[in-house]
Amino acid sequence: MDAFLLFFPILYLLRNTLWKWVRIMSKQVAVTVSGIDFAAAHFVSEGGKCELLHGHNYHVTATIWGELNHLGMVIDFRVLKQHLRQLCKQWDHLILLPSNSKLIKVSQQDNQTKVETSEGTYSFPAKNVEILNVVETTAEELARIFCKQLLGNITKEHSNISQVRVELAESSTSRAIVTMLV
Ligand SMILES: [Zn+2]
Repeated sequence: MDAFLLFFPILYLLRNTLWKWVRIMSKQVAVTVSGIDFAAAHFVSEGGKCELLHGHNYHVTATIWGELNHLGMVIDFRVLKQHLRQLCKQWDHLILLPSNSKLIKVSQQDNQTKVETSEGTYSFPAKNVEILNVVETTAEELARIFCKQLLGNITKEHSNISQVRVELAESSTSRAIVTMLV
């Protein structure tokens, strides 16, 4: 009997929470910016072997959800594009290397970055390299870092934003998608 009586307050709470969520979600609008690019080189190890060094023209698409501000915007498209270009610039024309790979060993000496792989050893000028805190520099990991950085940057000045999604395409057929809630 006690358990039966407890059922109604729980149901009431659930109903209120659901309505609150529906009210918030019904005010959400999404904006998307695409066509922001950067070019970078990388290789990924898989199944005990390492790819050869190669490059991609990465295409970034960002979708931002939020309530409309006093200007009737989620975020100004120009502001969003500026943030995306700034983030793309950090990796543009660089060799992206992982710091946590089991098969790609990266070390720095003087102004050179040495990279040992199953296929051989590379040495690059350190200024041409970006070492990322990832297991592999896959499109998924790059999209995850990008999404986290974008969310951190735009929510500093936009308290109306609730969700950020980044799509990172490394070719016309292959893309990684990451969504993060604020
Ligand atoms: Zn690749």
